Amino acid sequence: MLSNVCSTRVQCDLLERTNRTEVSVGLVNDFHTSSDEDGDKLVHHNQSECGYGQEIIRNGHKVAGKLPGSALCERCKDIAAGK
Ligand SMILES: [Zn+2]
Repeated sequence: MLSNVCSTRVQCDLLERTNRTEVSVGLVNDFHTSSDEDGDKLVHHNQSECGYGQEIIRNGHKVAGKLPGSALCERCKDIAAGK
């Protein structure tokens, strides 16, 4: 699969390193919920390990990006801080 993306050894190494970093950090693009059922719409998530975020995805309410005035989820902050 990787051979489709990279043509040189250096590119492959770079790509591998990038992928590994994304996995270990668990950082994803900002997203929030489209539904009141999941709580505050003015809270967004950016950690794949966040339980609240996972519930939003499971419920099918995930919307990419964040709303104006939105705050980062407390759980996502804890995860980013390594708690
Ligand atoms: Zn979160």
